[in-house]
Amino acid sequence: MEPRHVAVIGAGIIGICCARALQRDGHRVTLIDRGHPGEGASFGNSSVLATESVIPVATPGIWRKVPKMLLDPLGPLSLRWRYLPHLTPWLLRFLAASRPEAVERISLALESLLDDSIPAYGQLLKDAAAEDLLVRRGWIGAYTTRAALEDYRRLAELQRRRGVEVAEISVAEMRQMEPALSPGLAGGFYYPQVAHTLDPYRVVLAVAELVQREGGRILRRDVTGFRVADGKVEAVETTEDSLPCDAVVVAAGAWSKDLAKRLGVKVPLDTERGYHLTLPTPGIALSRPVYSTEFGMACTPLTGGLRLGGTVELGGRVAAPNWQRAQVLASRGRQLFPDLDTRDASRWMGFRPSLPDSLPVLGPAPAAGNAVLAFGHGHLGLTLGARTGRLVADLVAGRPAPIDLAPFAATRF
Ligand SMILES: Cc1cc2nc3c(=O)[nH]c(=O)nc-3n(C[C@H](O)[C@H](O)[C@H](O)COP(=O)(O)OP(=O)(O)OC[C@H]3O[C@@H](n4cnc5c(N)ncnc54)[C@H](O)[C@@H]3O)c2cc1C
Repeated sequence: MEPRHVAVIGAGIIGICCARALQRDGHRVTLIDRGHPGEGASFGNSSVLATESVIPVATPGIWRKVPKMLLDPLGPLSLRWRYLPHLTPWLLRFLAASRPEAVERISLALESLLDDSIPAYGQLLKDAAAEDLLVRRGWIGAYTTRAALEDYRRLAELQRRRGVEVAEISVAEMRQMEPALSPGLAGGFYYPQVAHTLDPYRVVLAVAELVQREGGRILRRDVTGFRVADGKVEAVETTEDSLPCDAVVVAAGAWSKDLAKRLGVKVPLDTERGYHLTLPTPGIALSRPVYSTEFGMACTPLTGGLRLGGTVELGGRVAAPNWQRAQVLASRGRQLFPDLDTRDASRWMGFRPSLPDSLPVLGPAPAAGNAVLAFGHGHLGLTLGARTGRLVADLVAGRPAPIDLAPFAATRF
Protein backbone atom coordinates (compact mmCIF):
# COMPACT_ATOMS: atom_id res chain seq x y z
CA MET A 1 0.00 0.00 0.00
CA GLU A 2 1.27 3.44 -0.98
CA PRO A 3 1.55 5.88 1.93
CA ARG A 4 -0.84 8.73 1.31
CA HIS A 5 -1.68 12.12 2.70
CA VAL A 6 -4.95 11.72 4.58
CA ALA A 7 -6.97 14.69 5.86
CA VAL A 8 -9.12 13.92 8.91
CA ILE A 9 -11.88 16.43 9.66
CA GLY A 10 -12.68 16.69 13.37
CA ALA A 11 -10.26 16.28 16.27
CA GLY A 12 -12.64 14.68 18.76
CA ILE A 13 -12.05 11.17 20.04
CA ILE A 14 -13.14 9.66 16.71
CA GLY A 15 -10.99 11.86 14.45
CA ILE A 16 -7.95 11.64 16.69
CA CYS A 17 -8.14 7.81 16.84
CA CYS A 18 -8.59 7.66 13.05
CA ALA A 19 -5.56 9.91 12.57
CA ARG A 20 -3.39 7.74 14.80
CA ALA A 21 -4.49 4.46 13.18
CA LEU A 22 -3.77 5.90 9.72
CA GLN A 23 -0.40 7.13 10.91
CA ARG A 24 0.45 3.64 12.19
CA ASP A 25 -0.32 2.41 8.69
CA GLY A 26 2.38 4.74 7.37
CA HIS A 27 0.21 7.58 6.09
CA ARG A 28 0.91 11.27 6.53
CA VAL A 29 -2.03 12.76 8.41
CA THR A 30 -3.46 16.26 8.78
CA LEU A 31 -6.16 16.68 11.41
CA ILE A 32 -8.40 19.68 10.82
CA ASP A 33 -10.64 21.18 13.48
CA ARG A 34 -12.20 24.60 13.82
CA GLY A 35 -11.45 24.49 17.54
CA HIS A 36 -8.88 22.77 19.70
CA PRO A 37 -8.68 18.93 19.91
CA GLY A 38 -11.21 17.30 22.22
CA GLU A 39 -13.35 20.33 22.95
CA GLY A 40 -16.55 18.95 21.38
CA ALA A 41 -18.60 16.08 22.81
CA SER A 42 -15.37 14.27 23.64
CA PHE A 43 -14.53 16.82 26.35
CA GLY A 44 -17.08 16.12 29.02
CA ASN A 45 -18.54 12.67 28.52
CA SER A 46 -19.00 10.12 31.29
CA SER A 47 -15.73 8.38 30.44
CA VAL A 48 -17.13 4.84 30.41
CA LEU A 49 -16.00 2.22 27.89
CA ALA A 50 -19.50 0.85 27.88
CA THR A 51 -19.03 -2.50 26.17
CA GLU A 52 -22.32 -3.75 27.64
CA SER A 53 -24.24 -1.20 25.51
CA VAL A 54 -25.53 -3.59 22.87
CA ILE A 55 -29.02 -2.13 23.22
CA PRO A 56 -30.22 0.87 21.16
CA VAL A 57 -31.36 4.00 23.01
CA ALA A 58 -34.91 3.38 21.78
CA THR A 59 -36.05 0.22 23.53
CA PRO A 60 -39.45 -1.50 23.12
CA GLY A 61 -42.25 0.54 24.67
CA ILE A 62 -40.38 3.86 24.49
CA TRP A 63 -43.19 5.42 22.46
CA ARG A 64 -45.31 5.32 25.64
CA LYS A 65 -42.81 7.74 27.18
CA VAL A 66 -43.08 10.39 24.41
CA PRO A 67 -45.80 12.49 26.14
CA LYS A 68 -43.67 12.58 29.31
CA MET A 69 -40.63 13.51 27.23
CA LEU A 70 -42.53 16.54 25.98
CA LEU A 71 -43.94 17.55 29.35
CA ASP A 72 -40.96 17.11 31.64
CA PRO A 73 -38.03 19.36 30.63
CA LEU A 74 -35.89 17.93 33.43
CA GLY A 75 -36.57 14.23 32.75
CA PRO A 76 -33.82 11.82 31.72
CA LEU A 77 -35.14 11.90 28.14
CA SER A 78 -36.73 15.19 27.12
CA LEU A 79 -37.73 16.92 23.96
CA ARG A 80 -37.91 20.65 23.30
CA TRP A 81 -41.30 21.61 21.87
CA ARG A 82 -39.85 24.20 19.49
CA TYR A 83 -37.55 21.62 17.95
CA LEU A 84 -40.31 19.06 17.36
CA PRO A 85 -41.20 20.05 13.74
CA HIS A 86 -37.54 19.75 12.76
CA LEU A 87 -37.03 16.53 14.70
CA THR A 88 -40.15 14.61 13.61
CA PRO A 89 -38.56 12.51 10.80
CA TRP A 90 -35.67 11.59 13.14
CA LEU A 91 -38.08 10.82 15.97
CA LEU A 92 -40.20 8.52 13.80
CA ARG A 93 -37.08 6.57 12.80
CA PHE A 94 -35.98 6.53 16.45
CA LEU A 95 -39.32 5.02 17.49
CA ALA A 96 -39.14 2.51 14.60
CA ALA A 97 -35.76 1.38 15.91
CA SER A 98 -37.49 0.33 19.15
CA ARG A 99 -39.48 -2.45 17.45
CA PRO A 100 -38.35 -5.84 18.83
CA GLU A 101 -37.02 -7.08 15.46
CA ALA A 102 -35.10 -3.83 14.95
CA VAL A 103 -33.64 -3.99 18.48
CA GLU A 104 -32.47 -7.55 17.74
CA ARG A 105 -30.78 -6.47 14.48
CA ILE A 106 -29.21 -3.34 15.98
CA SER A 107 -27.90 -5.24 19.00
CA LEU A 108 -26.10 -7.71 16.71
CA ALA A 109 -24.44 -4.84 14.87
CA LEU A 110 -23.47 -3.15 18.14
CA GLU A 111 -22.07 -6.42 19.47
CA SER A 112 -19.78 -6.74 16.44
CA LEU A 113 -18.56 -3.16 16.78
CA LEU A 114 -18.08 -3.22 20.55
CA ASP A 115 -16.11 -6.43 20.43
CA ASP A 116 -12.42 -5.62 20.83
CA SER A 117 -13.11 -1.97 21.66
CA ILE A 118 -11.23 -2.02 24.99
CA PRO A 119 -8.19 -3.98 23.70
CA ALA A 120 -8.00 -1.50 20.80
CA TYR A 121 -7.29 1.24 23.39
CA GLY A 122 -4.54 -0.89 24.98
CA GLN A 123 -2.02 -0.37 22.16
CA LEU A 124 -3.14 3.18 21.45
CA LEU A 125 -2.69 4.38 25.04
CA LYS A 126 0.58 2.48 25.35
CA ASP A 127 1.93 4.33 22.30
CA ALA A 128 0.70 7.58 23.85
CA ALA A 129 2.34 6.71 27.21
CA ALA A 130 -1.09 7.14 28.80
CA GLU A 131 -1.96 3.59 29.85
CA ASP A 132 -2.59 4.82 33.39
CA LEU A 133 -5.73 6.55 32.12
CA LEU A 134 -7.49 3.23 31.50
CA VAL A 135 -9.10 1.43 34.47
CA ARG A 136 -10.87 -1.91 34.25
CA ARG A 137 -13.02 -2.48 37.33
CA GLY A 138 -16.42 -3.00 35.74
CA TRP A 139 -19.48 -0.91 36.50
CA ILE A 140 -22.70 -1.16 38.45
CA GLY A 141 -26.23 -0.41 37.30
CA ALA A 142 -28.17 0.76 40.39
CA TYR A 143 -31.98 0.76 40.73
CA THR A 144 -34.05 2.75 43.22
CA THR A 145 -37.26 0.71 42.82
CA ARG A 146 -38.07 -2.98 42.45
CA ALA A 147 -40.26 -2.21 39.42
CA ALA A 148 -37.36 -0.56 37.56
CA LEU A 149 -35.03 -3.42 38.49
CA GLU A 150 -37.48 -6.05 37.28
CA ASP A 151 -38.17 -4.08 34.11
CA TYR A 152 -34.46 -4.05 33.29
CA ARG A 153 -34.15 -7.86 33.55
CA ARG A 154 -35.39 -8.38 29.97
CA LEU A 155 -32.68 -6.03 28.67
CA ALA A 156 -30.04 -7.76 30.80
CA GLU A 157 -31.21 -11.00 29.20
CA LEU A 158 -30.65 -9.53 25.74
CA GLN A 159 -27.19 -8.39 26.84
CA ARG A 160 -26.42 -11.95 27.98
CA ARG A 161 -27.51 -13.30 24.60
CA ARG A 162 -25.03 -10.89 23.00
CA GLY A 163 -22.23 -12.30 25.15
CA VAL A 164 -22.15 -9.54 27.79
CA GLU A 165 -21.10 -10.73 31.25
CA VAL A 166 -23.71 -9.45 33.68
CA ALA A 167 -24.77 -10.53 37.19
CA GLU A 168 -27.78 -9.33 39.16
CA ILE A 169 -26.59 -8.28 42.61
CA SER A 170 -28.24 -7.41 45.92
CA VAL A 171 -27.95 -4.07 47.66
CA ALA A 172 -25.59 -5.66 50.21
CA GLU A 173 -23.33 -6.89 47.39
CA MET A 174 -23.45 -3.49 45.70
CA ARG A 175 -22.49 -1.77 48.96
CA GLN A 176 -19.66 -4.19 49.50
CA MET A 177 -18.19 -2.96 46.23
CA GLU A 178 -19.25 0.67 46.67
CA PRO A 179 -19.99 1.48 50.33
CA ALA A 180 -21.17 5.00 49.40
CA LEU A 181 -24.31 3.63 47.70
CA SER A 182 -27.59 4.17 49.53
CA PRO A 183 -28.89 1.21 51.60
CA GLY A 184 -32.37 2.16 50.37
CA LEU A 185 -31.75 1.01 46.78
CA ALA A 186 -33.63 -1.96 45.31
CA GLY A 187 -30.64 -3.80 43.77
CA GLY A 188 -28.61 -3.75 40.61
CA PHE A 189 -26.51 -5.36 37.91
CA TYR A 190 -22.76 -5.74 37.78
CA TYR A 191 -20.78 -5.71 34.51
CA PRO A 192 -17.23 -6.89 35.28
CA GLN A 193 -15.84 -6.36 31.75
CA VAL A 194 -16.64 -2.66 31.47
CA ALA A 195 -13.78 -0.16 31.80
CA HIS A 196 -13.50 3.59 32.24
CA THR A 197 -10.89 6.25 31.69
CA LEU A 198 -9.77 8.69 34.36
CA ASP A 199 -10.33 11.68 32.06
CA PRO A 200 -11.80 11.49 28.53
CA TYR A 201 -10.36 14.89 27.55
CA ARG A 202 -6.86 13.82 28.57
CA VAL A 203 -7.26 10.71 26.39
CA VAL A 204 -7.81 12.96 23.35
CA LEU A 205 -4.93 15.24 24.31
CA ALA A 206 -2.54 12.31 24.85
CA VAL A 207 -3.34 10.85 21.42
CA ALA A 208 -3.15 14.32 19.81
CA GLU A 209 0.36 14.78 21.24
CA LEU A 210 1.35 11.35 19.94
CA VAL A 211 0.06 12.12 16.44
CA GLN A 212 2.04 15.37 16.39
CA ARG A 213 5.17 13.78 17.87
CA GLU A 214 5.12 11.26 15.04
CA GLY A 215 4.91 13.93 12.36
CA GLY A 216 1.16 14.52 12.00
CA ARG A 217 -0.22 18.06 11.67
CA ILE A 218 -3.17 19.57 13.51
CA LEU A 219 -4.62 22.62 11.74
CA ARG A 220 -7.22 25.03 13.07
CA ARG A 221 -9.62 25.57 10.16
CA ASP A 222 -13.35 25.59 9.52
CA VAL A 223 -14.07 23.06 6.76
CA THR A 224 -16.73 24.16 4.29
CA GLY A 225 -16.58 21.44 1.61
CA PHE A 226 -14.45 19.53 -0.87
CA ARG A 227 -12.97 19.84 -4.32
CA VAL A 228 -14.04 16.63 -6.04
CA ALA A 229 -12.84 15.56 -9.51
CA ASP A 230 -13.30 12.21 -11.27
CA GLY A 231 -15.05 10.75 -8.21
CA LYS A 232 -12.21 11.65 -5.84
CA VAL A 233 -11.66 14.35 -3.25
CA GLU A 234 -8.62 16.36 -4.33
CA ALA A 235 -8.73 18.95 -1.60
CA VAL A 236 -10.55 19.97 1.56
CA GLU A 237 -11.97 23.49 1.31
CA THR A 238 -11.84 25.67 4.40
CA THR A 239 -12.85 29.26 5.09
CA GLU A 240 -9.17 30.18 4.70
CA ASP A 241 -7.66 27.92 2.06
CA SER A 242 -7.80 24.74 0.06
CA LEU A 243 -5.85 21.78 1.50
CA PRO A 244 -4.81 19.14 -1.07
CA CYS A 245 -5.06 15.50 0.09
CA ASP A 246 -5.06 11.95 -1.29
CA ALA A 247 -7.90 10.74 0.95
CA VAL A 248 -10.28 12.25 3.51
CA VAL A 249 -12.07 11.07 6.65
CA VAL A 250 -15.15 12.94 7.90
CA ALA A 251 -15.24 12.64 11.71
CA ALA A 252 -16.89 15.94 12.57
CA GLY A 253 -19.27 14.53 15.19
CA ALA A 254 -22.67 16.24 15.38
CA TRP A 255 -21.61 18.63 12.59
CA SER A 256 -21.00 15.93 9.97
CA LYS A 257 -24.36 16.02 8.18
CA ASP A 258 -23.58 18.89 5.78
CA LEU A 259 -20.14 17.50 4.96
CA ALA A 260 -21.64 14.06 4.21
CA LYS A 261 -24.21 15.72 1.95
CA ARG A 262 -21.38 17.31 -0.04
CA LEU A 263 -20.01 13.80 -0.50
CA GLY A 264 -23.25 12.48 -1.92
CA VAL A 265 -25.36 11.20 0.97
CA LYS A 266 -28.18 12.58 3.11
CA VAL A 267 -28.06 11.14 6.62
CA PRO A 268 -30.59 11.78 9.39
CA LEU A 269 -27.93 12.90 11.86
CA ASP A 270 -29.14 14.91 14.83
CA THR A 271 -27.96 15.42 18.35
CA GLU A 272 -28.84 14.02 21.75
CA ARG A 273 -27.67 16.80 24.02
CA GLY A 274 -26.21 15.66 27.34
CA TYR A 275 -25.07 17.43 30.51
CA HIS A 276 -22.61 16.90 33.29
CA LEU A 277 -21.76 18.17 36.74
CA THR A 278 -18.22 17.44 37.91
CA LEU A 279 -17.81 17.53 41.70
CA PRO A 280 -14.26 18.42 42.77
CA THR A 281 -14.80 17.32 46.40
CA PRO A 282 -17.62 14.75 46.24
CA GLY A 283 -17.17 13.65 49.87
CA ILE A 284 -17.46 9.99 48.83
CA ALA A 285 -15.08 7.58 47.09
CA LEU A 286 -16.04 5.31 44.19
CA SER A 287 -13.84 2.58 42.72
CA ARG A 288 -15.86 2.20 39.55
CA PRO A 289 -18.66 4.02 37.69
CA VAL A 290 -22.27 3.57 38.78
CA TYR A 291 -25.09 3.96 36.29
CA SER A 292 -28.79 4.66 36.76
CA THR A 293 -31.10 3.92 33.83
CA GLU A 294 -33.95 5.56 35.75
CA PHE A 295 -32.06 8.87 35.81
CA GLY A 296 -30.15 8.31 32.53
CA MET A 297 -27.02 9.22 34.45
CA ALA A 298 -23.54 7.78 35.04
CA CYS A 299 -21.43 8.65 38.10
CA THR A 300 -17.76 8.22 37.23
CA PRO A 301 -14.68 8.68 39.42
CA LEU A 302 -12.17 10.80 37.45
CA THR A 303 -8.85 12.37 38.37
CA GLY A 304 -10.61 15.75 38.59
CA GLY A 305 -13.46 14.60 40.85
CA LEU A 306 -16.71 12.68 40.52
CA ARG A 307 -18.64 13.27 37.30
CA LEU A 308 -22.42 12.98 37.18
CA GLY A 309 -23.16 12.91 33.49
CA GLY A 310 -25.72 11.87 30.93
CA THR A 311 -29.43 12.40 30.15
CA VAL A 312 -30.79 13.06 26.69
CA GLU A 313 -32.31 16.32 25.51
CA LEU A 314 -33.60 16.36 21.94
CA GLY A 315 -33.29 20.03 21.09
CA GLY A 316 -30.84 20.52 18.23
CA ARG A 317 -27.50 22.32 18.13
CA VAL A 318 -28.72 25.92 18.30
CA ALA A 319 -30.83 26.31 21.47
CA ALA A 320 -29.03 27.52 24.61
CA PRO A 321 -28.36 24.93 27.32
CA ASN A 322 -31.02 24.42 29.98
CA TRP A 323 -28.68 24.44 32.97
CA GLN A 324 -31.42 23.20 35.25
CA ARG A 325 -30.89 19.84 33.52
CA ALA A 326 -27.33 19.82 34.82
CA GLN A 327 -28.38 21.02 38.27
CA VAL A 328 -30.95 18.27 38.68
CA LEU A 329 -28.15 15.70 38.39
CA ALA A 330 -27.04 16.76 41.89
CA SER A 331 -30.30 15.76 43.59
CA ARG A 332 -30.44 12.54 41.58
CA GLY A 333 -26.86 11.80 42.61
CA ARG A 334 -27.85 12.25 46.27
CA GLN A 335 -30.60 9.65 45.82
CA LEU A 336 -27.89 7.13 44.93
CA PHE A 337 -25.23 8.44 47.35
CA PRO A 338 -26.76 10.10 50.45
CA ASP A 339 -23.42 11.63 51.56
CA LEU A 340 -22.64 13.22 48.18
CA ASP A 341 -21.18 16.73 48.44
CA THR A 342 -22.21 18.66 45.35
CA ARG A 343 -20.58 21.99 46.19
CA ASP A 344 -18.42 23.87 43.66
CA ALA A 345 -19.58 21.66 40.78
CA SER A 346 -18.61 22.64 37.24
CA ARG A 347 -21.25 22.15 34.57
CA TRP A 348 -21.13 21.31 30.88
CA MET A 349 -23.33 20.46 27.92
CA GLY A 350 -22.26 18.50 24.84
CA PHE A 351 -23.73 17.34 21.55
CA ARG A 352 -23.79 13.58 21.04
CA PRO A 353 -23.78 12.91 17.30
CA SER A 354 -26.76 10.60 16.93
CA LEU A 355 -28.41 8.58 14.20
CA PRO A 356 -31.94 7.43 15.10
CA ASP A 357 -31.00 3.72 15.08
CA SER A 358 -28.15 4.22 17.61
CA LEU A 359 -25.59 2.97 15.07
CA PRO A 360 -22.80 5.16 13.70
CA VAL A 361 -22.09 5.82 10.04
CA LEU A 362 -18.91 4.00 9.16
CA GLY A 363 -18.00 3.39 5.55
CA PRO A 364 -17.17 4.92 2.18
CA ALA A 365 -18.86 8.08 0.91
CA PRO A 366 -21.01 7.44 -2.20
CA ALA A 367 -19.71 10.37 -4.27
CA ALA A 368 -15.97 9.99 -3.66
CA GLY A 369 -13.98 6.77 -3.70
CA ASN A 370 -11.27 8.15 -1.43
CA ALA A 371 -13.58 9.54 1.29
CA VAL A 372 -14.57 7.67 4.46
CA LEU A 373 -17.41 8.70 6.77
CA ALA A 374 -16.96 8.02 10.50
CA PHE A 375 -19.48 9.83 12.70
CA GLY A 376 -22.70 9.43 14.65
CA HIS A 377 -21.38 7.37 17.55
CA GLY A 378 -24.10 8.71 19.85
CA HIS A 379 -23.65 7.42 23.40
CA LEU A 380 -20.64 5.30 22.48
CA GLY A 381 -18.08 7.61 20.90
CA LEU A 382 -15.47 7.20 23.60
CA THR A 383 -16.03 3.45 23.79
CA LEU A 384 -15.70 3.02 20.04
CA GLY A 385 -12.94 5.55 19.30
CA ALA A 386 -9.94 3.23 19.03
CA ARG A 387 -11.92 0.50 17.25
CA THR A 388 -13.33 3.02 14.76
CA GLY A 389 -9.80 4.24 14.04
CA ARG A 390 -8.70 0.73 13.09
CA LEU A 391 -11.74 0.12 10.90
CA VAL A 392 -11.24 3.45 9.12
CA ALA A 393 -7.58 2.55 8.50
CA ASP A 394 -8.80 -0.72 6.92
CA LEU A 395 -11.19 1.20 4.68
CA VAL A 396 -8.54 3.69 3.56
CA ALA A 397 -6.12 0.83 2.85
CA GLY A 398 -8.75 -1.17 0.97
CA ARG A 399 -8.23 -4.09 3.40
CA PRO A 400 -11.25 -6.26 4.20
CA ALA A 401 -12.74 -5.17 7.53
CA PRO A 402 -12.88 -7.84 10.27
CA ILE A 403 -16.64 -7.23 10.66
CA ASP A 404 -19.57 -6.68 8.32
CA LEU A 405 -19.85 -2.92 7.85
CA ALA A 406 -23.19 -3.05 5.96
CA PRO A 407 -25.27 -2.11 9.09
CA PHE A 408 -23.24 1.11 9.36
CA ALA A 409 -23.52 2.22 5.71
CA ALA A 410 -24.45 5.89 5.27
CA THR A 411 -26.97 4.80 2.61
CA ARG A 412 -29.00 2.58 4.98
CA PHE A 413 -31.71 5.21 5.58
C1 LIG B 1 -23.13 13.78 28.75
C2 LIG B 1 -22.47 12.79 27.83
C3 LIG B 1 -21.98 11.61 28.35
C4 LIG B 1 -21.37 10.67 27.51
N1 LIG B 1 -20.81 9.55 28.05
C5 LIG B 1 -20.16 8.66 27.26
C6 LIG B 1 -19.52 7.53 27.82
O1 LIG B 1 -19.47 7.34 29.04
N2 LIG B 1 -18.93 6.64 26.97
C7 LIG B 1 -18.93 6.82 25.61
O2 LIG B 1 -18.41 5.98 24.89
N3 LIG B 1 -19.49 7.93 25.05
C8 LIG B 1 -20.11 8.84 25.84
N4 LIG B 1 -20.69 9.95 25.30
C9 LIG B 1 -20.68 10.11 23.84
C10 LIG B 1 -19.34 10.64 23.32
O3 LIG B 1 -18.92 11.75 24.08
C11 LIG B 1 -19.46 11.04 21.85
O4 LIG B 1 -20.04 9.97 21.12
C12 LIG B 1 -18.11 11.34 21.26
O5 LIG B 1 -17.44 12.32 22.03
C13 LIG B 1 -18.22 11.81 19.82
O6 LIG B 1 -16.92 12.05 19.36
P1 LIG B 1 -16.66 12.75 17.97
O7 LIG B 1 -15.20 12.80 17.79
O8 LIG B 1 -17.49 12.09 16.93
O9 LIG B 1 -17.30 14.21 18.13
P2 LIG B 1 -16.72 15.51 18.87
O10 LIG B 1 -15.95 15.19 20.09
O11 LIG B 1 -17.87 16.44 19.04
O12 LIG B 1 -15.68 16.10 17.82
C14 LIG B 1 -16.09 16.63 16.59
C15 LIG B 1 -15.08 17.70 16.22
O13 LIG B 1 -15.33 18.11 14.88
C16 LIG B 1 -15.07 19.50 14.81
N5 LIG B 1 -15.78 20.03 13.64
C17 LIG B 1 -17.09 19.92 13.38
N6 LIG B 1 -17.39 20.49 12.19
C18 LIG B 1 -16.23 20.97 11.70
C19 LIG B 1 -15.89 21.68 10.52
N7 LIG B 1 -16.81 21.98 9.59
N8 LIG B 1 -14.60 22.05 10.34
C20 LIG B 1 -13.65 21.75 11.26
N9 LIG B 1 -13.93 21.06 12.40
C21 LIG B 1 -15.20 20.69 12.61
C22 LIG B 1 -15.58 20.05 16.12
O14 LIG B 1 -14.96 21.30 16.41
C23 LIG B 1 -15.20 18.94 17.09
O15 LIG B 1 -13.95 19.18 17.72
C24 LIG B 1 -21.30 10.92 26.11
C25 LIG B 1 -21.78 12.12 25.59
C26 LIG B 1 -22.35 13.06 26.43
C27 LIG B 1 -22.85 14.36 25.86
